[in-house]
Amino acid sequence: MIYLDNNATTRVDPRVAAAMLPFLTEHFGNPSSRHGVGAAAAAAVRAARRQVQGLIGAAHESEVIFTSCGSEADATAILSAARARPERRVIVTTAVEHAAVQAVCRDLEKDGYTLREIGVDGEGRLDLAAFARALTPEVAVASAMWANNETGAVFPVVELAEMAHAAGVIFHTDAVQAAGKAEIDLAATKIDMLSLSGHKLHAPKGIGVLYLRRGTPFRPLLRGGHQEKGRRAGTENVPGIVALGAAADLARRQMAEEVPRIAALCDALQAEILARVPGCRVLAAGSPRLCNTLAMVFPGLEGEAMLAHFDRRGLAASGGSACNAGGMAPSHVALAMGLSPVLARGMIRFSLSRETTAEEIAAAAGIVVEVAAACGSGLGLASPRGRAAYV
Ligand code: PLP
Repeated sequence: MIYLDNNATTRVDPRVAAAMLPFLTEHFGNPSSRHGVGAAAAAAVRAARRQVQGLIGAAHESEVIFTSCGSEADATAILSAARARPERRVIVTTAVEHAAVQAVCRDLEKDGYTLREIGVDGEGRLDLAAFARALTPEVAVASAMWANNETGAVFPVVELAEMAHAAGVIFHTDAVQAAGKAEIDLAATKIDMLSLSGHKLHAPKGIGVLYLRRGTPFRPLLRGGHQEKGRRAGTENVPGIVALGAAADLARRQMAEEVPRIAALCDALQAEILARVPGCRVLAAGSPRLCNTLAMVFPGLEGEAMLAHFDRRGLAASGGSACNAGGMAPSHVALAMGLSPVLARGMIRFSLSRETTAEEIAAAAGIVVEVAAACGSGLGLASPRGRAAYV
């Protein structure tokens, strides 16, 4: 299987698995326990915190709070900012956020908050003037993702954080897709909160981080235990934390070499498909993009049917966000960029990782070209529902 769905999840790096294993069996202690077994676990958590700090350039290791996933980090950040300043009743976010951010914002809207969702243009670029206008004194928090999970489009979050700060607004960014692929140096920015997730950078599922800048007002989502300095209750997921630390360290050390290599592979895939599939188009081509993400639309072809044919030929990709998989709803990101619902249904996302090889990219391009040609010319490739795969 050629796996080009790394924005959905990544394979756990064997070195990461090796680092975490002893913390399942040998060093199984509770970091809060006052004995040697607990102390070993506590030391490992401290080391992992420093490794994550290194990846994101946080000024203080205490700014790293371990959570259960990226979604929890997103929810904690937004709800915390809202609760910390209850007199402020407006939330600013963007039209293309991941469901983890969108759902929390919509819930707050039901509770009486006003939601200002800033739009993007046809290339996935944020309307900066509208963002600036939205930052009024009633805003509790502004949340804009670092990089889009569907198109890879990168927002200028360092600049957005500065705009927010100038207006006295707390700024959060969902960097779940950016961590390990984009340079992050938080100490040099005004970003107050940032979310990341282990399983997008070759650590296991079920571990994430909320970065919380020192001095930022904070209200925990989970209360009870004193873990994470009282900011996130629940006995620490020590194996997951150790794994995320190891993954962060590997990502930090390999980025300078891997980012240009992955970008070149992604460019090669894009060039080959553009040259050989008439009418197809790259989404967010006019925007800065993550090195690993290529989203395309194939007019007249149904994305879901193409994905099923890819799968049969040994290519794993995805349409829109993985969270939409199984549903026929066109991607909200594609719609926000002005695509028609019909065109949006023809969207396919290829997402590479440091494990992707040049041979795989050449083979993947061949499969895409073959399936697009067969579907487009009506050569009888049946869709999963038995309908013709071309519409
Ligand atoms: N934010 C973005 C941009 C994502 O792509 C994802 C996962 O797809 C999440 C948040 C949620 O992360 P997790 O699966 O760790 O909850």
